Amino acid sequence: MSMKAIICGKLIDGTGSPSQSEMTILIEGNKIIKVGKKQNIEIPVQAQVIDASDRVVVPGLIDSHVHFLATGYRLGHYQLSHKESIEDIVTGLGEYIQSNNVLSGKWVQGRGWDDQNLREKRYPNRYDLDAVSLDNPVALTRVCGHMIILNSKALEACNISKDTPNPHGGVIDKDDQGEPTGVLRDARGLLRPHIPPPSYEELRQGLRDATDLAHSLGVTTIHDASRPDETLPHLSTKPYRDARAEGDLRLRCHVMTGYPHEMSGDEFLSFGTLKIGIDGSMGAQTALLFDPYDNDPETTGVYVGDVDRDINWVQEAYDKSGIVAIHAIGDRAINEALNTIESALAEGPGDDHRYRIEHYEYPTDDDIQRSLEMGIVASMQPNFVGEWAWPGGMYDIRLGQERLKRSNPFRQLLDLGFHIVFGSDGMPFHPVYGIWSAVNHPITAHRITVEEAVMCFTYEGAHASREEDIKGTIEPGKLADITILSTDITSPEFQLSTTDSSVIEQAKRELKKTLVYMTIQDGEIVHQV
Ligand SMILES: [Zn+2]
Repeated sequence: MSMKAIICGKLIDGTGSPSQSEMTILIEGNKIIKVGKKQNIEIPVQAQVIDASDRVVVPGLIDSHVHFLATGYRLGHYQLSHKESIEDIVTGLGEYIQSNNVLSGKWVQGRGWDDQNLREKRYPNRYDLDAVSLDNPVALTRVCGHMIILNSKALEACNISKDTPNPHGGVIDKDDQGEPTGVLRDARGLLRPHIPPPSYEELRQGLRDATDLAHSLGVTTIHDASRPDETLPHLSTKPYRDARAEGDLRLRCHVMTGYPHEMSGDEFLSFGTLKIGIDGSMGAQTALLFDPYDNDPETTGVYVGDVDRDINWVQEAYDKSGIVAIHAIGDRAINEALNTIESALAEGPGDDHRYRIEHYEYPTDDDIQRSLEMGIVASMQPNFVGEWAWPGGMYDIRLGQERLKRSNPFRQLLDLGFHIVFGSDGMPFHPVYGIWSAVNHPITAHRITVEEAVMCFTYEGAHASREEDIKGTIEPGKLADITILSTDITSPEFQLSTTDSSVIEQAKRELKKTLVYMTIQDGEIVHQV
C-alpha cells in the first residue's frame, strides 16, 4: 500500500482544538495511520513526503449544503456572479448568445446575479433583457435561486400574462398596468414544464466538472441539498448512483432526497436525509417573518410548506431512522419547522436524531431555546454574512438594524452547545471564504474562532450525516481526506482589524479567487496548484 507523510506547518484537526505546530501525518492507502509531533514520527523510507511546513493543514472540507448536480450542470450556463451592473448583465448576455452560437428559439439560462452588487440597485426586468434577445427565451436566476428574471419571449413560452394568477407560495411581479415585469419570486414551477430539463449526459458531465471544482477548493465531501427526486423527477438520484457504480464518483456525496429514506450507502455515496422546504430566501423577500420586511411593510414572506404532507414525511423519516432537513430562514419559518417536528413526533424526537434546520438565519430567542431542547442541528451558511450582513447590506435592508443584530448568531449557538454545520449553498461555493466570513462576522458578537469555523466545515459535516466515525477530523483510523491551504488562516491578517469597507471588499475579492494548495481524497492527491 502506498504511504504518504505530510509535514505540517500548522495542523487544525477539525475537533475545534487550537492549531498545533510542527506536526506530521502518516497515510497508508486511504487511511490516516499516525498523527503526532514531527520529532516523534518516523517517516518510512517508502513514503512520499509532502512538504507543507509553511502551510496550514485541515481535514478535507465538507460543504454540507450545496446544490451540487445543479452547480455542475450550470457551469455551462451564463455566469452572472461577478456582474456589477444591469448594463453588464445585458452586454454579457449578448456575448454569451453569440459565442455559444445559441440557435434562435433555444432557452438561455443564467444564474448568480445579485441586485446588491448592481450599480442600478434594482432588479433587472424583461425590458432590459428584450434589448438583447427577442428570439431566445431567457431566464436569469438570482444568486439565491428564489428569484428569476424572464424576457418577453420566455414569459410567452411559459404562458405568463396579465391574467396569470400567482402560483402557490410565489409571486409574479406586475406593473401598474398589470403586465408581468419579468420578475418571478419562488415561482420556478411555472417555468419547469417549459424549460427542457438537463439531459442525463449533461448531469453526468456536470458531476465530473463540479467534482474538479470542489477539489480545487479543498472540498472532499458535499451534501447535495437539491432534493433530486423533486427537481430531477425524470432522473431522480440516477446520475449519482450510476457514477458510483461505474467508479466515476471521485467525491464523497451525501444526497438529500425529496421523500423519506433510510440511511444507506457507502463511503462515497450515501442517502437518508429528507429535505423539506418551509420558506424562500431573505434576498427575494420570501423568507417567512413574524413582522414585515423593513423595506416592504406589506410583506412578511411566503410559506411554501404543506403542513399535512410535511408532518407525515417527518413521521415516516423518523420510523426509518432517517434524518430530516427543513429549509427555514425567517423567524416564523423556523417556528413552523419546529412545530412540524413537534406535531409529527408527539413524544419529541428521540436522542441523537440529528434533525437539521437549513439556514436558520433569524431564529427568535424562544426558538433558539426550543431548538436546543429538541436537539436541532443548525445548518448555516457563514458566507451569507460575509456577503450580506454588513451595514447597508441585504440583511440590513430587509430586517433593519435591530433584527440584523440577531441574525446568524454563531457565537451564541456554539456557546449554548448547538451542533452547527456549515455549508455554502453555492453563494459562493467556497468554504475557505465561509471560514473567513465566520471569523469576521460583521456583527462582532457573533464571531467564532478559526478552529471552530473549521470544525463546522469538517467534523460537524461528518456528524450531520452520521459519518463522524470515518471522517471529518485528522486522527488515526480516519479516511485520508486532507486539505492543505494556500491561505494562512491562523495569521492575524486573516482576521479583520478594519471597518473600512473598501479594504474589506478587496480582501473578499482576493480570497474568493484563491484555490487551495493541495487536496487529498481517499489517500490520493486529487488537486495541486
Ligand atoms: Zn440551498
